[in-house]
Amino acid sequence: MCGIFSAWGIEDASNHVYLGLYALQHRGQESFGIVSTDGEQFYMKKKMCLVADAFHPTTLKMLRGRGAIGHVRYSTSGPSVMRNMQPIHAQLHDGEVALAHNGNLVNAPTLRRQLHQEGMIFQSSLDTELIFHLMARSQATSLKERFFESLTQVRGAYSLVMMTHNQLLLARDPYGYRPLILGEYRDGLVAGSETCAFDLIGAKFVRELEPGEVVCVDQQGKTTSDFLPRVARQAYCVFEHVYLARPDSHVFGENVYSARKAMGRRLAQEHPVTADVVVPVPDSGVPAALGYSEECKIPFDFGLIRNHYVHRTFIEPDQRIRNFGVRVKLNLQRTILKNKSVVVVDDSIVRGTTSRKIIGMLREAGARSVHMRVSSPAITHPCHFGIDTPTRQELIGANKSVEEIRGYLNVDSLGYLSQEGMLSVLAQTKDSYCVGCFSGRYPEAVDVELTNPS
Ligand code: AMP
Repeated sequence: MCGIFSAWGIEDASNHVYLGLYALQHRGQESFGIVSTDGEQFYMKKKMCLVADAFHPTTLKMLRGRGAIGHVRYSTSGPSVMRNMQPIHAQLHDGEVALAHNGNLVNAPTLRRQLHQEGMIFQSSLDTELIFHLMARSQATSLKERFFESLTQVRGAYSLVMMTHNQLLLARDPYGYRPLILGEYRDGLVAGSETCAFDLIGAKFVRELEPGEVVCVDQQGKTTSDFLPRVARQAYCVFEHVYLARPDSHVFGENVYSARKAMGRRLAQEHPVTADVVVPVPDSGVPAALGYSEECKIPFDFGLIRNHYVHRTFIEPDQRIRNFGVRVKLNLQRTILKNKSVVVVDDSIVRGTTSRKIIGMLREAGARSVHMRVSSPAITHPCHFGIDTPTRQELIGANKSVEEIRGYLNVDSLGYLSQEGMLSVLAQTKDSYCVGCFSGRYPEAVDVELTNPS
């Protein structure tokens, strides 16, 4: 889970990248970095912190130039340490390059082993670094071709922004797992993970990069597109719509908020219940709860109030912090819950630990009965394509039946949205999405080291 953003041909590009990353903070909260260029050299700053806490304004002034790329990170490949902060940068034989990546390369262990055997030294444990090594070994004549060639050797999920002193390169893997969106800003160009970043700076949405598209923009702003070899189908990550993307973004051809609301409506059709109030788990469950409430004609209300100064609990890499986080983050509205029959709606259940605590809180507030509704199917398998999900052992949906989960959560009833129902409300055809976390059927083979981490 990461966010990427770039600004090209724009005065004070780093300022715009900074703001873009601010809007993409939900995609990663462990580290933050920007690299800029004035056409002569790179200026860079990376830090293990939130965007808001990252820089003094004078630091941004030092990131000079009309080109910049940036990254917010949540680790899905390699631990959360300083050497794994992005963008990464390297000196190739014909110049400097900087690169930021959202996604996971599923043949990274095999490639790394091969390169190690050939004597390569790695600076990080990021799969992203492989792209530089493959570029360095390529015999192709231009940097753009070497980049393209390296992408034919990696597999898995990648949305990339890469920069030299005089060109910006963007790439999206042939399955299109993660979004990558192009926009216009004044005389220049912006690209990033989600459109909410464009709205913040006032950039105009142009289009999503096609799956397999590699875009090159030169110093004059001239843009060319090439395409990687086609694959049998697209595999847009459905979890972007369920949880990851911000509701005010437009990804995979539709507005995320509308998609979530439609999932909530469909959930109500599949699992109706008679109750007094529909309560969302804020913020992730809000659009689906609204859809549920509209469809079931049960009033919607905020029975749980979120403290906005706490980040996403689950996104903390340490389980102890996560446990502690629930109470810090959510508080009860007792007047709304007392003696009521409550439908609590969330977008997903992963380990079940947060949901269990929330249900306990609702009961403590005097709810007469609690019915949980989840606007996605049970998560039964880990994601290897760039979403942080735990191992199968930790996924409650992989180890318990719905009835057992109902008992564990201590709810009167539990209903998950069906896979069929989830896909039926989305804009693209059903076979255009990756549903690996709900089905265990991944679009492409994954290295065994990733499926069985030691
Ligand atoms: P739990 O009950 O512990 O499984 O936590 C469920 C909560 O985690 C839900 O509110 C989800 O919105 C949230 N969630 C789902 N997937 C993720 C993820 N990959 N990273 C962070 N939070 C997530």
